[in-house]
Amino acid sequence: MDPNCIFCKIIAGDIPCYKLYEDGRVLAFLDVGPLSEGHVLVIPKAHAVQLGEMADEVAAAIGAVLPRLARAVSAATGTGAYNILQNNGEVAGQVVMHVHFHLIPKPDPTRAPDSKSPGSPGSGLGIHWPAGQIDPEAAETLADKITSALG
Ligand code: 5GP
Ligand code: ZN
Repeated sequence: MDPNCIFCKIIAGDIPCYKLYEDGRVLAFLDVGPLSEGHVLVIPKAHAVQLGEMADEVAAAIGAVLPRLARAVSAATGTGAYNILQNNGEVAGQVVMHVHFHLIPKPDPTRAPDSKSPGSPGSGLGIHWPAGQIDPEAAETLADKITSALG
């Protein structure tokens, strides 16, 4: 528990949330600033800033519940498409420094847009995907480097 962390305060019950799921290791609740209706945050109860800091069993507990939550959110919102997003580090868009997985329904863009009031959930995650082309020689070296670091 980090006393300055907003998500730790939610876990402790000091800040309210729209709770969806809880077990010994995991909490899931609605995002207060949804990108679309049904935008959910899934967090470990143990404070960690980035994904790589999580213990294997905590990561496994989150992984075990994500599909269930995805099914429930899809059923509740009628949206079959969704993105899982997990930002690590400020330059990668992380604002809250407690690991969290976003589950963001993606409404069908071909459906007629509803008349939305300002501030209502929108069209889900927008993706900018500036793909390059892998260099086979550099890829061999890089793959070796990563596999050695994996141990
Ligand atoms: P990040 O940019 O760090 O990946 O996302 C942080 C998310 O946390 C944002 O989508 C933001 O709306 C959400 N958030 C920030 N503060 C609170 C809060 O107090 N309660 C809830 N439910 N969500 C929050
Ligand atoms: Zn925290």
